[in-house]
Amino acid sequence: MKLKKPLLGIKWNLFLSFVLFSAILLVLLWLFQIVFLDSFYREIKINAIKSTAETIVNNIDNEDLPTLVERMAQNNDICILVLDEDGSEIASADVLQGCIIHHMQADGLYKYFQAARDNGGSYLERFNLQAFQNDRYDPNKFLDRVPPKDEGRMDMIIYARSVSLADGAQAVVLLNSVLTPVVSTVDTLRTQLFYISAILILLSLAMALLLSKRISRPIIRINNRSKELAQGNYQPNFETSGYKEIAELADSLNHAAVELDKVETLRRELIANVSHDLRTPLTMISGYAEVMRDLPGENNPDNVQVIIDEARRLAGLVNDILDLSKLQSGAQKLNPATYNLTHSIRTILGRYVKLIDQEGYVLNFEAGQDVFVRADQRRIDQVLYNLINNAISYTGPDKRVAVRQAIAGNRVRIEITDSGEGIPAEQLPYIWDRYYKVDKTHRRAVVGTGLGLSIVKGALELHQAPFGVDSKPGEGSTFWFELNIAEKPEDED
Ligand code: ADP
Repeated sequence: MKLKKPLLGIKWNLFLSFVLFSAILLVLLWLFQIVFLDSFYREIKINAIKSTAETIVNNIDNEDLPTLVERMAQNNDICILVLDEDGSEIASADVLQGCIIHHMQADGLYKYFQAARDNGGSYLERFNLQAFQNDRYDPNKFLDRVPPKDEGRMDMIIYARSVSLADGAQAVVLLNSVLTPVVSTVDTLRTQLFYISAILILLSLAMALLLSKRISRPIIRINNRSKELAQGNYQPNFETSGYKEIAELADSLNHAAVELDKVETLRRELIANVSHDLRTPLTMISGYAEVMRDLPGENNPDNVQVIIDEARRLAGLVNDILDLSKLQSGAQKLNPATYNLTHSIRTILGRYVKLIDQEGYVLNFEAGQDVFVRADQRRIDQVLYNLINNAISYTGPDKRVAVRQAIAGNRVRIEITDSGEGIPAEQLPYIWDRYYKVDKTHRRAVVGTGLGLSIVKGALELHQAPFGVDSKPGEGSTFWFELNIAEKPEDED
């Protein structure tokens, strides 16, 4: 079989997936730790300032406000100034180096108050503090990795929140914070990330190799074994180790191997049986025909009859095989009609009269009243023929076969009993299988193909009729089936 596109093996698939996963992990780490670190930091800092202001506003009328302000200033590294409308201080904490609001004139501070009020209650201002203000510094003049001119600039933030006091007067909460540059942190992280990347790549390579080998090994093994199966090795020796799915697959394949082996054995037996069974009548036909051609005296009706009988047997055999394949392919449809079953059994038994006369068989029929059934007569006749043939073939030295008809409720039960060796209990479930024979040698008078009972089974199943066999070794066998009784048709008498 040729694949259109060369597919990657499971080992390489796993390996590449691992490598891809590590690469994505590294890119994510890089993005969050290096590229976006600055914006994250700013965002978080500004949110902290806003929530600090909010807390102070909510506690504005508390008489211990100055202690809260002091604590919050220290905690967040922020300068805080709370002023009333007149510019007098309500609370203040000056913890930040380079704080602006504590060194601002009253009118400067008032501007923030105004801005907050004009702006719906809050106002945020950001401006740069030049970190290095020497115009003569030119990074290009120096060797090695030197800081660029504007790297390390600090962002100053002033946040103003206006608030009403309990007595109705207005106040303002001013906060001042510095966003220190994250350049040095980024440098540290970058170095760390470099090592992390190297370790991660090595680790994922090792893991990928190891895991992909472990995961793919049982699959590769099962694949190789399946190829042997395809080539006709039906040993059920798929290893059920590895992991759950593989064990289940191996189980199924073992089961398939056993079934294939059975089919293969059946096939071989069928060919052996059928060719044997076909050869016997063919040898007879050609033998008799040759004798009749070569010896003028032998050209008599008896010999012609042998040829006709053998030809009929051949035809019967071929019909059996055809019937069975039709039954099993589901192509067979029933042709039901109401007919006298008792009468049809009598007719069938009548055909064995030659056997009774010449070979001493005793065929008994216990009937009672006539029973009508609605069924496909041709199929039920076939069932009866097969069961009676078997009974005759396998019955004991007394050559007795009994056919019994019994009525139970709205059903009629037909039993065919012989006095033969019976069937061992362990064989009972298999006798209905195609080509199954308990005794594989052809010892008996009527040569069978092992198809009879599977034809019986197929036909009775089509009628949805219960059937079975009671048999004990040494006590003979009783094959039985049941059909629903039908109304006697008006035109019958
Ligand atoms: P066959 O053509 O070999 O008789 P069947 O399908 O009719 O095939 O029967 C299958 C097997 O069941 C037979 O080979 C035989 O071993 C067993 N069997 C069938 N009927 C009887 C019986 N009445 N007594 C004992 N064994 C039987």
